[in-house]
Amino acid sequence: MSEVLQLPLIAIGALGGTVSMQVNAPGEGVTPSLSSEALLASLPQLEDLARITAQTLHLLPSASLTFIQLIDVLQWAKAQAEQGVQGIVLTQGTDTLEEVAYFLDLLWPYQTPLILTGAMRSPNQAGADGPANLLAAVQVALADESQGRGALVVINDQIHAAEHVRKADSLAMAAFSSTHFGPEGLLVEGRVRYLKAPKPRCSLPVPERLDHRVALLEASLAADTLLLEEVAGLGYEGLVIAGFGAGHVSQQWARCVGQISHWMPVIMASRTGAGATALRSYGFIGGEMDLQRKGALMAGFLCPRKCRVLLWVLIGCGMEGELGRWLAAR
Ligand code: GLU
Repeated sequence: MSEVLQLPLIAIGALGGTVSMQVNAPGEGVTPSLSSEALLASLPQLEDLARITAQTLHLLPSASLTFIQLIDVLQWAKAQAEQGVQGIVLTQGTDTLEEVAYFLDLLWPYQTPLILTGAMRSPNQAGADGPANLLAAVQVALADESQGRGALVVINDQIHAAEHVRKADSLAMAAFSSTHFGPEGLLVEGRVRYLKAPKPRCSLPVPERLDHRVALLEASLAADTLLLEEVAGLGYEGLVIAGFGAGHVSQQWARCVGQISHWMPVIMASRTGAGATALRSYGFIGGEMDLQRKGALMAGFLCPRKCRVLLWVLIGCGMEGELGRWLAAR
């Protein structure tokens, strides 16, 4: 057998994002246009590491990806895993990388590594990070220690758990962090070095319902209750509130939470961007003790956006009754 045939197989799926963007007309900004093959052309060294099959699944800015498209991406990735690839790499925009990674992580039943990556600088910019991130993602996908860790985000030579990672800076190269938890591992001179052991995982079934809506609203100073009052009437089936501090809202919003939670699950998360929600500290109206009495569930460390993803998936597979158990573990 030739040496090339002995190399492990990696499947790469491109979804778009800055990593695939270029200027297509003078004076215009960059837009997603590079296919998976064009991305690979910038990395000839991959040929020595793996046999690569590459597919362009979408060419979208990541803000425009939908849950339905992501379920198709999941099915594509599952088909690759079932054909026995060593690992799967998805390239996409960084704007929703954390949400997509968490969505896929919830639904990923295999040991096969599912690695997501992107870039903060487009290929036309000096110091473009796309090729380095793609190379690192393939290296992580190839590592035996990456098995059984679900979906991981590999960026800036760090490996992050889907549940903890967030884009914490709009334009910086070091935009991603897993605040309080730290990265799962690092790439050191191209070697994959995990800092943590894999955690036991439990995946959810693929949602059968796709037409439901979960609202995400952020509490802000002196905000009115108009949108909140409309949530149930507009057909939403779940509500996440990015609350003040440890998961709090105003007295006016608290009254609405009390009513809405008769109709649908309400999750109270924190808008701060770091830290957990409280459970038993604050007794004022709109504080977490009052909101829990009114039927809301507290998010723990899970950020508001990922709470929305979790609730959407649970409702979609008829498992919203499990929400409290999922959040308690976060
Ligand atoms: N900075 C983002 C990116 O890395 C913008 C576009 C997007 O998320 O698709 O790709």
